Amino acid sequence: MNIIVQKYGGTSVANLEKIRTAAVRIKESLKEGCVAVVLSAMAGDTDGLLKLASEITRTPDPRDLDLLLATGEQISVAMMSMTLKEMGIACETFLGFQAGVMTDENHGRAKIKRLDEKKVRAALEKGCVAVVAGFQGTTESGEITTIGRGGSDTTAVALAAALSAKRCEIYTDVEGIFTADPAICKNARLLEKISYEEMSELADAGAKVLHDRSVEIAAKNGVLLAVKPAHSQGIGTLVVPEKDAVMMEGSFVSGLTCNTGEARICIRKVPDKVGVTAKIFAPIARAGIDVDLIIQNVSEDGFVELAFTVPKEDLRKALALTEAAAREVNAGKVRAEGDIAKISVVGLGMRSHAGIAHRMFAALAREDISIQMIGTSEIKVSIVIEERRAVDAIKILHDEFSLA
Ligand code: ASP
Ligand code: MG
Repeated sequence: MNIIVQKYGGTSVANLEKIRTAAVRIKESLKEGCVAVVLSAMAGDTDGLLKLASEITRTPDPRDLDLLLATGEQISVAMMSMTLKEMGIACETFLGFQAGVMTDENHGRAKIKRLDEKKVRAALEKGCVAVVAGFQGTTESGEITTIGRGGSDTTAVALAAALSAKRCEIYTDVEGIFTADPAICKNARLLEKISYEEMSELADAGAKVLHDRSVEIAAKNGVLLAVKPAHSQGIGTLVVPEKDAVMMEGSFVSGLTCNTGEARICIRKVPDKVGVTAKIFAPIARAGIDVDLIIQNVSEDGFVELAFTVPKEDLRKALALTEAAAREVNAGKVRAEGDIAKISVVGLGMRSHAGIAHRMFAALAREDISIQMIGTSEIKVSIVIEERRAVDAIKILHDEFSLA
């Protein structure tokens, strides 16, 4: 069976007309094989539901919140089903639990543990389009979970992997993956292909086009991933294994991102003793909060200063936990800053070429942009700067690495 999985994001199912446009594309794709469709909630619905909850309480029970948020995708699935049937296309609908999306119990950011695809496959075998709700799953005990904002991409890739689909197409409101956000960099270039590794680093660093875990799952299972525009016939970007991602001669950097979704926590006067750092991070790890960049300066008079970044949405919780931990280890003041931006440059070429970080620092220094934190991986350099210089920094680095 030739299976194609298509995911339509919120803007691509934002109203009846767009749902119809998607349905027409689904009909077209049926010529190539069976189609399983994964949908996001209609644009704005998830935010609207979150706002509604926030009017009741600042700390909703995560179980209740998941129950609420999962309704967004239920609506778009029902509407797509009606639209397809009106067009004479047979289909079957699946909420997360019906599609066999099994997750852990971490409400709000659950991980898909496995996807039992039998029912979806049976629908496809009968010649039906399977219309599946993204973003949601169920625990072994039957609780409804959601898998994190933007998670429908991950549902789609997990489904494609389970079905051994020929391709997973992600339809979105942009043309594909660019060298930088085209809204910031007018001369950003659409990438025809990008490797899983680079895409994963870009997604992780804040490129919002794909949910970071979706790329991980695609890489692990060799799912061919295509990011395409829903509003045009544009070819989009293919996310492929490294060996298939042709590197342009002389280009060491493939793209850059700007993430303003993180905040920094600094702790003064942390006693420089073995085990103290572990004690500070233990409660944060236990709360499932993702710590990104960490710096600790050289010890002076037996004390160090520690700074790290966390997602802004977790700041309140992380701050409370850090303050408690700091008291316990007799550290000094804890302070939080939200007006920071993390800029990352990513490229496979960094593996074989030294000096990328230096070029980045030098280019920013020429424009008087001060660097507050630095982090690197094999194919990425990330820096934290003042949020108000973020746009300048992106433009400068895009030019510096000749990405246009
Ligand atoms: N509806 C969810 C969100 O807005 C999931 C998704 O769209 O991928 O985050
Ligand atoms: Mg998305």
